[in-house]
Amino acid sequence: MRNQGIGSWPARRSRSTPQATALVYGGRTTTYAALHARVTALAHALRARGIDPGDRVAYLGPNHPAFVETMFATHALGAIFVPLNFRLAAPEVAYMLDDSGASLLVHAPENADAVAALEAYAGARIALGAPGAGDEAYEDLLASSGADDDPSRVPAVDVPVAASDPALILYTSGTTGRPKGAVLTHDNLLANAINLLVDVDVATDEVTLVGAPLFHVAALDQTLIPTILKGGTCVIMPTWDVDACFDLIAEHRVTWMFGVSAMFAGLAQSPRWSGADLSSIRTVMSGGAPVPESLIRTYQERGLTFCQGYGMTETAPGATFLRPEQSIAKAGTAGTPCFFVDVRVVDADGADVAPGVPGEVLVAGANVTPGYWNRPDATAAAFTDGWLRTGDVATVDDDGYLTIVDRVKDMFISGGENVYPAEVEAVLFAHDGVAEAAVIGVPDERWGEVGAAYVVARPGARLDVDDLRAFARTRLAGYKVPAHWHLVDDLPRTGSGKVRKPDLRTMTDDPR
Ligand code: ATP
Ligand code: MG
Repeated sequence: MRNQGIGSWPARRSRSTPQATALVYGGRTTTYAALHARVTALAHALRARGIDPGDRVAYLGPNHPAFVETMFATHALGAIFVPLNFRLAAPEVAYMLDDSGASLLVHAPENADAVAALEAYAGARIALGAPGAGDEAYEDLLASSGADDDPSRVPAVDVPVAASDPALILYTSGTTGRPKGAVLTHDNLLANAINLLVDVDVATDEVTLVGAPLFHVAALDQTLIPTILKGGTCVIMPTWDVDACFDLIAEHRVTWMFGVSAMFAGLAQSPRWSGADLSSIRTVMSGGAPVPESLIRTYQERGLTFCQGYGMTETAPGATFLRPEQSIAKAGTAGTPCFFVDVRVVDADGADVAPGVPGEVLVAGANVTPGYWNRPDATAAAFTDGWLRTGDVATVDDDGYLTIVDRVKDMFISGGENVYPAEVEAVLFAHDGVAEAAVIGVPDERWGEVGAAYVVARPGARLDVDDLRAFARTRLAGYKVPAHWHLVDDLPRTGSGKVRKPDLRTMTDDPR
């Protein structure tokens, strides 16, 4: 057997487009030939440190070419890559290292303290910066394995890998509970890349800005992997920064980028927006949350094509896609299923809902995870008859466009009526003084459950609970208006910026 996984891609790319630029980072560019040479050298070094097929190799750090090299070297050996959120605290990192059973960790200088605080982790450690006690230095490792820019001098690594083998253990964001390690196979990643190529037209001369964090499924599978498949160039930003983004777009003539709504809003609100040269950009793509129509228009007025997607870690990640030509007509929706993905929206009995009626989103396709690492219970609960239960509630319109309403877990029932907190939050966001808002259901003797709102004021704004309540009453049915109000300084958020609702239940600030 041969390597049928994505670990073979640097070799395939270096065979067909060796001199094309694969990565740009800071002042450094890496051709596909050089990427292949470095990946192969690193694979030898990892093998010498005991990494066998199926072993887990973790990476902790901001975006960096070493992330890409470590991932492909791991895959060249048939091992499983475990990217970790570099914003996590030491105990959270420790949990993921333990849960995945990682036997090697590559880490960045920014995370040296978290790594030094790991007590239980006994595996090998490789430092990108100055090595601490117990670390080996990344660049020394590469040098000792003969990495130079000449792939012919590095012996090939030829571990057989099946397309159905696990490629990644990717931890979910932990919005609804403890993050779960979703297993994604090489096939899952290829399937998502093909869906993207069909829907977005990623080109061979693409210059992709990798500005979202690579440990998250969206940046990794939605930008980096398809770009490498096509032989384009990835311009890697260590962490998101509006000014650096404008600079990189102009310097490298970036043609497409992926981001969350807040990133695109940040660019549009920057004083540099009106004067920036964005002429190279063909397409921008947003995911993770619906994008306000006004923001889509702001981009379209600059001649930029704006597309959006809905997905999750478990679907690698694309599930639905909103085509740019529909982005205004169908604003607020998440579009229609990606090309090879099938989606159903069902009621509690598993029957397809009528248009406009909320139900749970089910997803099937070659991009869908086979299950969670070490969690047969969670895996069994996540599938019905081969369909992934997303835990998201959506409606479908007459044209088949999905609108994501909320999470099943977040819905509560007040006096027999379903309340979707996202709808209540959208009303609170419309209040001038509100910067952030989150609503949860809490037990109530009379109604079963009632809403509790957690609200953060805009800087300088004075919020008054009676005023907020009156504002909500004129816009929502009475049973949806929160019964409890909490004015707080900030909301507990995950590394990707989503509100952690389970943590709200334990917040004790100033109940009114
Ligand atoms: P966990 O599964 O650990 O609770 P999570 O679901 O937030 O965390 P991710 O896989 O990063 O982890 O996020 C996927 C979720 O994000 C989806 O299930 C959905 O709830 C939400 N989401 C993604 N895209 C969109 C979108 N376009 N519109 C609305 N919600 C979206
Ligand atoms: Mg989830």
